[in-house]
Amino acid sequence: MIRFTEQKGKFIKHCPCTPDVVPCGYYNLNLHTGCPYCCSYCILQAYLETTEPIFFTNFDDMEKELEEVSQTRQYLRIGTGELTDSLALDLQTGYSHKILDIIEKFPEIVFEFKTKSSHVENLVSYKKVLRNIVVSWSLNPREVIEREELLAPGLIARLGAVEKAQAHGYKIGIHFDPIVIFAGWQAAYLELVKEIAKVIEPSRIAWWSLGALRFPYSLREHIFKHQGSRLFEGELVKGHDGKYRYFKPLRLQLFRYMKQIIRENISDDAPLYLCMEDKEVWEEIFPEIHPDEEAVNQYLYQSALK
Ligand code: SF4
Repeated sequence: MIRFTEQKGKFIKHCPCTPDVVPCGYYNLNLHTGCPYCCSYCILQAYLETTEPIFFTNFDDMEKELEEVSQTRQYLRIGTGELTDSLALDLQTGYSHKILDIIEKFPEIVFEFKTKSSHVENLVSYKKVLRNIVVSWSLNPREVIEREELLAPGLIARLGAVEKAQAHGYKIGIHFDPIVIFAGWQAAYLELVKEIAKVIEPSRIAWWSLGALRFPYSLREHIFKHQGSRLFEGELVKGHDGKYRYFKPLRLQLFRYMKQIIRENISDDAPLYLCMEDKEVWEEIFPEIHPDEEAVNQYLYQSALK
């Protein structure tokens, strides 16, 4: 059941990222929390007191905060998809229209709806297409969706929604996060990239993140509930932030491979970036991008508005 209530705290927060990595300068707009999809690797399952969907109702306060933050920060990228799925419950709540009504007043802010759902009905029925909106999908090979994302729509449904949003004129974001290692991962990710290539128009891609699997120890119980989970197949080590992630040489191998197959099958110019990776990994994978928050944020902001 969806709960509607007032947001008593701040709506806008700098993405907490993790220590000693290169943050991308993203901001979270906490307009709703909780997610119906319950994916095996999802940190919300460990962090939130309840996964019951909660939607905040004080839009005037949210707009005031946006006004304040937009005056203090250039190149603002913000979205609702960190503590929830931006569109999973949009047919029930209609929140996407309320957000668009407000974001229309802030053409200099790049706003992202981040989702695994296929519910773009409200987005494509909105009165106009705003050039500062990015609709992005978290995508994974079928093998991962079937084991780790049991309640989320399948790949075909998500790609169908990508096509609809793109045809309507929205910029598209793609998130390969988490990238999971399992027997046959290279072939599975290549097939995924080829499926994306059939629907995506490379010039419409605002950004494309690459993030390797990582999770805190406290998520183990939740992962174990997914009996077919393959999250423990790759070699995981505990990082200084307490999160388990793949051993660095494995992560480098993953990222090199993703970069290669995306560049070969989609576009040499695909605006790729890394989520929660340190400077060393950035320098190795994307030597052309200066690995600091301001530079990465500006690169992604400009890519979204080009
Ligand atoms: S790199 Fe990922 S976790 Fe870090 S600030 Fe950006 S979106 Fe947030």
